[in-house]
Amino acid sequence: MARPLIADIDLDALRQNYRLARDQAPHSRAIAVIKADAYGHGAVACARALQDMAPAFAVACLEEAQILREGGITAPIMLLEGIFEVTELERVEALGLWITVHTDWQLEALLAYRPVRPIPVWVKVDSGMHRLGFSPEQAEAVWACLAAATDRACDLHLMSHFATADALEPGYFRRQLELLDDLAVRLEAPTCFANSPATLAWPEAHGAWNRPGVMLYGSDPLEASNEASRRLAPVMTLRSAIIAVREIARGEPVGYAGRWKAPRPSRIGVVACGYGDGYDRHAVDGTPVLVNGQRTTIAGKVSMDMLTVDITDIPEADIGSEVVLWGRAANGALLSVDEVGRHCDTISYTLLTGVLPRVPRRYH
Ligand code: PLP
Repeated sequence: MARPLIADIDLDALRQNYRLARDQAPHSRAIAVIKADAYGHGAVACARALQDMAPAFAVACLEEAQILREGGITAPIMLLEGIFEVTELERVEALGLWITVHTDWQLEALLAYRPVRPIPVWVKVDSGMHRLGFSPEQAEAVWACLAAATDRACDLHLMSHFATADALEPGYFRRQLELLDDLAVRLEAPTCFANSPATLAWPEAHGAWNRPGVMLYGSDPLEASNEASRRLAPVMTLRSAIIAVREIARGEPVGYAGRWKAPRPSRIGVVACGYGDGYDRHAVDGTPVLVNGQRTTIAGKVSMDMLTVDITDIPEADIGSEVVLWGRAANGALLSVDEVGRHCDTISYTLLTGVLPRVPRRYH
C-alpha cells in the first residue's frame, strides 16, 4: 500500500467559490489570485479549471507567471509585486503580463524601456498597509507620468491592498477606502482594491476589478463570517489514514516530550502525516481531526512523518481508517482549515501554502 497521505483538490468547489466572488460583486471583474502555487493547490490545475470564467490571474512574480504560460494559460496575468529587477521587463513583454508599479526604480525602469507594445500597468498606492506602494501624493505624479508615456504604458489602473478588511472593527478599513476613493475620483482611475474579505463583506470597496485569493480555496477570511462566506466550499481535503494503533494505560505519555498523557485507558491512532508534509507542528492537543468522518483530536506532539490521535471513542477505527486533517470526509463531514488554524495559532493561508511537495495532489 502506498503512503496514504494525499491532498484531494475539488476543482468544482474552486469554480463554485469563484462564482460566489463574482456574484458578490456583479459590477466588478474578479482577478483570481493564484500566487504561491494557488495557495498550495497547484497553480496550473487551478488556472485551467477557472480559465473559462476568470478574465485574469494574479501571481507574485515572473517565475510563477512563466509556469502558467508553460501550462498553456493564455489569459492576462498580473504580477502583484511587479518586477524585481530591470532585466525582467523583456520577459514581462514576451509573456504578455500586466505589471504593478509600486516604487520609483520600477517606474524609472519602465519609462526607460522601449516595448514593442505598451505594457498594462497597475499603479499601487499605499493607503495604510504600509508595505508596498506610492503615497497618495506621489501616486498622482506617477499617474500623470505614465498617462503621458503612451508608448510605454497602457490601461492604467489604481490598485491598493487593505490591512483590516477581515476585521470586525471597520475604522481603519474605512480610512483606507476613503483615501482611495478620493484619489480615484481625482485621477478618474479605474480601481482594483478588494481582496477576499472586501469582496465578501464590503461592496463599497468593489472596483472595476477585485482580487480575491483565499476565498477561492474555500477558506472564510472574515473575523465574523457572513451569509456569503458561509457558502464557501473547501477545495483541499488533506486526507490520510491510520497506519498503526496503540492501546495504552491511563497516565502513559504519547509522543515527543510526553506532552499528552492518557487521562484514561486509551486507543491511539498513528496517522501518516507530519510536519515533513507541512502539517503545522504547533498543533496543540485538542486540535480536531476527522476519523471515519467523526470528530476527535490530536493527542501528542506532531512528528515529522506522523501524528497521533485519540480514537478511544471511535471503537471501529483501525488501521486503514480514513483521517481527514482538514476538508471533507467520505461521509460528508466537514472540518474547516480555518478551525484547524485556530488550534495551531495560525491562519488558513499558512496551512494551505505549507502543504509540501511530498504530498501528492489528486484533482477531481
Ligand atoms: N492582492 C494582494 C496584493 C495580495 O497580496 C493578496 C494576498 O495576499 C491578495 C490580493 C489576495 O488576498 P486574499 O487571499 O486575502 O483574498
